Amino acid sequence: MTVKIALYGKGGIGKSTIASNVAAATSKNGYTATIIGCDPKGDSTTSLMGGERIPSVLSYLKKGETIEEEDVVHRGFNGVNCVEVGGPEPGIGCAGRGIIVALDKLSKKSNVVEESDLVIFDVPGDIVCGGLAMPVRKDYVDMAYIVTSGEYLPMYAANNICRGLNVLDGELGGVICNSRLQNEKQEDEIVKEFASQLNAKYIAYVPKRDKVQEYERQGKTIVEADSKHEVAQVYQKISKEIMKTNKPETPTPLTDKELRQLTNNTIKQKQN
Ligand code: ATP
Ligand code: MG
Repeated sequence: MTVKIALYGKGGIGKSTIASNVAAATSKNGYTATIIGCDPKGDSTTSLMGGERIPSVLSYLKKGETIEEEDVVHRGFNGVNCVEVGGPEPGIGCAGRGIIVALDKLSKKSNVVEESDLVIFDVPGDIVCGGLAMPVRKDYVDMAYIVTSGEYLPMYAANNICRGLNVLDGELGGVICNSRLQNEKQEDEIVKEFASQLNAKYIAYVPKRDKVQEYERQGKTIVEADSKHEVAQVYQKISKEIMKTNKPETPTPLTDKELRQLTNNTIKQKQN
């Protein structure tokens, strides 16, 4: 059985870093893992490919060329399958539509999804159009996971994503905190409480560490470069949680007022 998930969260919050590290960690546990990067930037898989960008499915289709599996499914670190959907030129065309066309083509040419134990769809930014929301449709992914920090705006985006999931009948596997605040314990507690109010499982707290970016500059995940590092261990934990195939939940989004109260109250309690 293939576990199929999509990662959602505010732009720049750490989705691609989590996707590539969790895929690497999953492969190290003896599973076949695949990343399907759905971001027009095409950077979901770079740290699994030694820093190299792979050609996207849409780059072939745009030139009118036929594709074969080996053109678009590239083996990265420890055999992780890497696919980039690609996108239209900035400002022209619809990225959502491109994802649908590319995935349709991929499924005709390759069994990579069926043959994987885990497939991670790395989705850009918030759910803003029907096309980008597409992977949460039940036939593509089993459930979404949301990445947020304890800051107000990423949580605001995460809350909106939950609203989008409700509209689409998508389900939520859980919430991952990718840290950005100075006070780690406080941030952990804010996001834990947020997950609880969303009726979602709190999966893990990923600390912010310079090493993650240092290895990224070398074209590596921290799971590849330093598997004993505390952050690499957290990615291992996230992999195990995801492979347990948690029972997904239907999220209960907060009102804007509740969201503000949650962040303010948790911070005030800590200050007293
Ligand atoms: P986008 O929405 O643009 O696709 P994203 O959500 O995929 O962004 P990433 O590209 O994964 O975000 O991460 C943004 C930056 O944050 C990267 O430079 C990455 O190295 C850094 N980063 C992510 N997680 C951590 C961490 N735990 N510690 C330190 N830096 C991190
Ligand atoms: Mg990304």
